[in-house]
Amino acid sequence: MDQFLFFLSLLLIIFVVPYFVAKAARNKGRSFGAWYAITVALGVLLWFVGWLIAGIIVASMKPEQSRPAGSPSPPVLPPPTTSPVAIAAPVRPTKRCPACAEDVLAEARKCKHWGEDLSAPSAGP
Ligand SMILES: [Zn+2]
Repeated sequence: MDQFLFFLSLLLIIFVVPYFVAKAARNKGRSFGAWYAITVALGVLLWFVGWLIAGIIVASMKPEQSRPAGSPSPPVLPPPTTSPVAIAAPVRPTKRCPACAEDVLAEARKCKHWGEDLSAPSAGP
């Protein structure tokens, strides 16, 4: 009976220790199942040395993604809609400022560059 309990606890350890190694691997963006299988295999073959090797590999590997473990993946932004309607600004009539020869809005009363009075018709006498 003692032998059975010993065997049972042994079996438990063989399958419980890899769970934590695989969990750590998953936290770094790796496959849980793959690392669980690797660590179980190493544990069966090499015992503590195998777990140590698996643990060192998992501890030393860099996270696959920059995002922290457990956080939801960033929302995928839809591609920018390049609708011509959205881009084209409403065209407003312009006129040429007599003072600086820059195009200013036809409704402007004063030149935006020099403050030139534009209330008079641009077509001079
Ligand atoms: Zn002007």
